[in-house]
Parts: sequence; C-alpha cells; structure tokens
Amino acid sequence: MHGRWHIAIVGYGAAGQAASLFLAEQGHRLTVFEQAAAPGPVGAGFLLQPTGLSVLARLGLHEQALAQGQRIERLHGCNVSGHCVMDMRYADHAADCFGLGLTRGSLFTLLRDAYADSAQIRTGACIETIDADGRHLRDSAGERYGPFDLIVAADGAHSRLRASVPQLVRRQRTYPWGAIWCLLPAEKWPYHDVLQQRYGGTREMIGLLPVGRRPDRDGRWLTFYFSLPGEQIDAFDDAALVRLRERVTVLWPEALPLLASIGVPQQLQRARYRDVVLRTPVQGRTVFIGDAAHAMSPQLGQGVNMALLDAHALADALAASDDIEAALQLYPRARRHHVAVYQRLSRWLTPLFQSERDGLARLRDITFGPLGRMPLARGQMLKILAGMKTSWLR
Ligand SMILES: Cc1cc2nc3c(=O)[nH]c(=O)nc-3n(C[C@H](O)[C@H](O)[C@H](O)COP(=O)(O)OP(=O)(O)OC[C@H]3O[C@@H](n4cnc5c(N)ncnc54)[C@H](O)[C@@H]3O)c2cc1C
Repeated sequence: MHGRWHIAIVGYGAAGQAASLFLAEQGHRLTVFEQAAAPGPVGAGFLLQPTGLSVLARLGLHEQALAQGQRIERLHGCNVSGHCVMDMRYADHAADCFGLGLTRGSLFTLLRDAYADSAQIRTGACIETIDADGRHLRDSAGERYGPFDLIVAADGAHSRLRASVPQLVRRQRTYPWGAIWCLLPAEKWPYHDVLQQRYGGTREMIGLLPVGRRPDRDGRWLTFYFSLPGEQIDAFDDAALVRLRERVTVLWPEALPLLASIGVPQQLQRARYRDVVLRTPVQGRTVFIGDAAHAMSPQLGQGVNMALLDAHALADALAASDDIEAALQLYPRARRHHVAVYQRLSRWLTPLFQSERDGLARLRDITFGPLGRMPLARGQMLKILAGMKTSWLR
C-alpha cells in the first residue's frame, strides 16, 4: 500500500461516507467536513440497485444492508385506468438479481458505524470555496483549512465547491418538477417486494417503495412519494395536503389508508431535482463525486448507486498509482461512460413522467408495455434498471 495522502472530503452524504471508508482503508489521512451540526439522513428511502449493493459488499456491509432493507423483486406501474405501463422483474435479468429498498437512516447508520473516525468529522463546517492554490478550503466563517493533497467534493446536488470552478460546468439546471416524500408504516401493505407506481398522465405520479426497517423505530416501512410542479412543492400547506388525499383517493384508493399517519404537511419532505453535467469531474487536485458531479432526476433510481460507484472507482484510481496527478487521470475514464448514459436517460425519461406534456403520457402508455415484452428491448430496460448500462452500443 502506498499513498498516505492528506485528503479532505467535503460532504458526508452517501458519496462522502463511502469515500471516507474506502480512503481510510487505504491508509490516507482524512479530514471530513459536513455542514450539518449533527450529520444524519435527509429524505425518506430509496431503491439501491445491484451495482450499488456490490459496492456495499466490497465494504463488508452487504449482509447488514440486506438485514436492514427490503428485497425488491419487481417494479410495477399502471395508469389511472389500470393499464400496465411498466412491469419489470429483476429475475428476468438474472436469477439472483434484485434491488434493495432501504431507508436513508439505514444507509447512513451503516456507513457511519463502519467509519472508525466518525467522531472526528468536522461538523457544522460549511465549506464555501477552494482557494486559488487548489490545495486549501475556506468555510463560511472564513476559516482556512489545508493544504490538502486531494480534495474530494461530495457536497451534493447544490454543491458550493462546484461554484468555485464554473469552467467545469457544462450544464446545470433545476427541473421544473420535484416531489414530496416521507416514510409511512407498511402495516398490512401486501406488495412487500414490489415498487409500485400510479400515473395520472404526466402530471401525477405516486410511488410506494418498501424500504424495510428504520434504525430508530420498530416495524417495516414504505417510502411514499408524490410528484408535483416545483412551485407547488415550495408552497405545500394544509390545503395542499387535503388535495393530495383527494388525488390519492382518485388515482390509487388502495393506498389511501396508508396516509392516515400524515397529520401535517411538515411530515412530508420536499425535493427538487437538478440536472448537472461537468466537462470533467477533476480540476487540479479536486475531484467531484456523487450528486456534486452529476445530479440527475431520480426517475431511474440511480443517484445513491452512482455515489457508491464513484467512491469505489476513486479508491481504485488512487490505489493504481503513486502519483496523485496520474491517479486523478484514471478516475474520469473509469466513470465517464456509465455516468453519461444515465444522465442522458434520466433527462429523456423525466418528461414522460413529470411534465405538462400530456401527449407524452399517451405515447408512454401505448409503447412501454409492448416494448417491455420484446426480448431485446426488455433486456436493455432491465440492464438500465439494474444500474448496469455502461454504453449505448454493447
Ligand atoms: C425524491 C428522491 C428520490 C430518490 N430516489 C433514489 C433512489 O430510489 N435510488 C437512488 O439511488 N437515488 C435516489 N435519489 C438520489 C439520491 O438521493 C442522491 O443521488 C444521493 O443522495 C446523492 O448522494 P451525495 O452524497 O452525492 O449527496 P447528498 O446525499 O446530497 O450529500 C451531500 C452532503 O454534503 C453536505 N454538504 C452540502 N454542502 C456542504 C458544504 N458547503 N460544506 C459541507 N458539507 C456540505 C450535505 O449536508 C450532505 O450531507 C433520490 C433523490 C430524491 C430527491
């Protein structure tokens, strides 16, 4: 083992957490910064794809993740008239293939508990900029840190560090639609291994994803999400909650009893999505990983997956060369194709599920079902779902 570099990791979300584990394992000296005073999970739960699970396996956390989460075997979505739009089974890709529903709390706790130096994380430190020398960081209180041999920017979709290097940014925009979401007790919900969705044209989408256990509460849980235009998310109030129940009654009456535990709009978290494309994730001694490098709409359920894959690929690149500059050349090559495929796919697919383009809903509802039954197209769709699509040609 070589290295032993002094590395700053900015942001302790999935990307920063996984990077901390991989890079600590390689013997580097880490300083981890997190803006939250008490780092913790944000949001409800998510679907982890087989590729992301393989990264957890590499970290020795596979069994714990399986014990905490819920195996997802199938994705099923239909429109309001009961017409099936999507029906994909992981087992049709490979017999032992499945996704894992996990609460954000479960993944956060799993990764934090595995990190021996979690007590040393510099919490409440909002890193604002990278100094002109590319080796120091400055926080919002003006304090300067460094020099670092490497800066890992893992500060999420709204990355401030990305703003320090505007020349890297090829594309950066906020989607007009987002979602509200929360965890709900699964109670007697019968579809314990299925991600279910209901679509009302392209303007309404409801999802229920079984996500297993929470570290802080008993029972089994579901992630509930409801798609909304951005301005309605920002203004989600009591009246909006009443409207939400009315719409669920129309679109998916079977799901309505699950909403009984939602008393106030504040129980629902608000999420807006960004579409970010960098020319390259590396600038000097700084490398961008996770949403900071490639925020995308969560339509394909790949963001956490990508964050874990990035951290793993970065560790592999650093292990491959004693020269840090040379190692940093390897990283973009390792991730370029995979990231580009999912960025494009999520950009193309999102309006089919979240937009005001009603004609697209008709097109989607007519084509997706038959496409999913054609062996070649089905194989490609399953590969995309499982996070394994790495090029257009293969
Ligand atoms: C509604 C919704 C559903 C989703 N569903 C899925 C799914 O099913 N599957 C999936 O794989 N992905 C899903 N995603 C995407 C996924 O949540 C993200 O891609 C993933 O969390 C990105 O991880 P990250 O570590 O890059 O960023 P984050 O999780 O955003 O972490 C960034 C961290 O950096 C910290 N930070 C930010 N700025 C600073 C600063 N200046 N200084 C210090 N610290 C800072 C933040 O506090 C945070 O802790 C979903 C997203 C949304 C919104």
